[in-house]
Amino acid sequence: MPDSAARPRAFQGKSLTIMAHIFCVANQKGGVGKTTTSVNLAAALHQSGQRTLLVDLDPQGNATMGSGIDKRTLTRSIYHLLVGLAGLDAVKTTSVPGGYDVLPANRDLAGAEIELVNLERREMRLKEALAQCANDYDFVLIDCPPSLSLLTLNGLCAAHGVIIPMQCEYYALEGLSDLVNSIKKVHANLNRDLKIIGLLRVMFDPRITLQQQVSAQIESHFGNKVFYAVVPRNVRLAEAPSHGVPGVVFDKTSRGALAYFAFAEELIERVQTL
Ligand code: ADP
Ligand code: MG
Repeated sequence: MPDSAARPRAFQGKSLTIMAHIFCVANQKGGVGKTTTSVNLAAALHQSGQRTLLVDLDPQGNATMGSGIDKRTLTRSIYHLLVGLAGLDAVKTTSVPGGYDVLPANRDLAGAEIELVNLERREMRLKEALAQCANDYDFVLIDCPPSLSLLTLNGLCAAHGVIIPMQCEYYALEGLSDLVNSIKKVHANLNRDLKIIGLLRVMFDPRITLQQQVSAQIESHFGNKVFYAVVPRNVRLAEAPSHGVPGVVFDKTSRGALAYFAFAEELIERVQTL
């Protein structure tokens, strides 16, 4: 992939008037590839010349660490932003290996959940914080925690759309209905902009018949809401976080990296039709 500086930005010339596309990467199940998708998509979008911000909304701070930012040494994190103890510029940092900006998280964020309950417009805190930088980016990606908590609700209220990574396993569709119902409720009551951008099949192993069957079921059920790109199970993607580097940078020729580059291009095309 050429460096971002060498490639024209898709929205060049319009970027002052077009607000960022703000997307949650969400699925209430843990270990389904949300963080891997957030980090690699952010890095791939950056390499395609898109100005990208990654928001880590999970107290586990995996997206922060996977971006090469040590969550243990943060003096300011998204926690401070959400509860009003710091402004966006004080919290924002940059992923050195990935090239994109990051609002990092660590365990402090677990406390925010309790503190937010007593604040006014508690589900709109992230939306209000991001409004300050909506013109500075082409894409804002929000890595959500594995729950339908107040933190995830903040993500859903701040976003224009949801990207749902899912494994093609037997219970995947069942779990999806809870998330889809939550998205419908938020759309009806709190955020008329919210829509499902698409489902991304991840950790896919075509040799497993069941995965092929579930994949076909997902396609017939969700139609064009299913992304064409499919991310294979690939050990290089799993190794990259321990080096603090996005997989698409760690081994840019791996099958996993190529899938995330293809996904980024597909997403750039898809947003033009939104
Ligand atoms: P979540 O954020 O939904 O909890 P993660 O992105 O952290 O999920 O992924 C869970 C685990 O699976 C991690 O150890 C990650 O490295 C691994 N993983 C994610 N995607 C892939 C993939 N395509 N191939 C192999 N391992 C993967
Ligand atoms: Mg995660």
